Amino acid sequence: MTFQENLFSGKHALVTGATQGIGAGVANCLASLGARVTAVGLDAGDGSLAPGIRVVVADISDEASTRNLFEQIDSLDILVNCAGIIRRGAEHRVDVFEKVLAVNLTGTMRLCSASRALLKASHGVIVNMASMLSFFGGARVPGYAASKGGVAQLTKSLALAYAEDGIRVNAVAPGWIATPLTQPLQDDPVRSEPILSRTPLGRWGTPEDVAGCVAFLCAPAAAFMTGVILPVDGGYLVA
Ligand code: NAD
Repeated sequence: MTFQENLFSGKHALVTGATQGIGAGVANCLASLGARVTAVGLDAGDGSLAPGIRVVVADISDEASTRNLFEQIDSLDILVNCAGIIRRGAEHRVDVFEKVLAVNLTGTMRLCSASRALLKASHGVIVNMASMLSFFGGARVPGYAASKGGVAQLTKSLALAYAEDGIRVNAVAPGWIATPLTQPLQDDPVRSEPILSRTPLGRWGTPEDVAGCVAFLCAPAAAFMTGVILPVDGGYLVA
């Protein structure tokens, strides 16, 4: 990592979906750069968070649970919306489709909306989690693809709406990252081979690969960037 030490010192970062996977990587990265970090997940997670990071168990698809979360937030400089689910093969069922949308898209909107006043006070930043499926369709995951297309459009819309409050809103679009969410794909040679052969950099990404780009978007170096969907994909999108 090549950022100035204490880049985010004095800042409070709220990272959802942070008890494992990409979100945990982001939380650890921001904490290593001096931020006070609150990590949100459905459970206490897999132990991959650095000591000193506060964990709050909350369901961002639930209004009351989110309200309870924000009762524990006094100030906020950085919001990173990483919470997300995928239900491969089941998302043609409308109830499953709706659940995926409720977490990935409506949950992201709920957190942005709940954070707006706090971020206005700090001239803060939001980073959302888009995907390759913000750009492509997914035959087995219509809900996930619709939600991530939605996250990209939501990011652009909130960038416009929140600019008057001095809040920047961007997204990263990770390629194929080795986390529990993609474990079934990593474990299946038939599905992992085409992913790897189309990724010019020739490997699965890591949560740290994504976290560095999130940190950049949160940093003063990105002060003139808003409404951007930044691919972090080892070149997958252009191959
Ligand atoms: P993961 O399954 O490893 O972790 C998901 C995290 O979200 C967990 O901490 C879980 O507790 C939390 N979560 C799920 N539902 C929640 C809810 N309702 N309320 C609060 N927290 C909830 O997933 P990951 O691979 O780290 O993915 C993180 C984000 O990145 C997701 O939005 C995912 O869509 C996106 N993404 C992942 C990849 C990839 O290849 N792994 C690629 C592109 C985008």
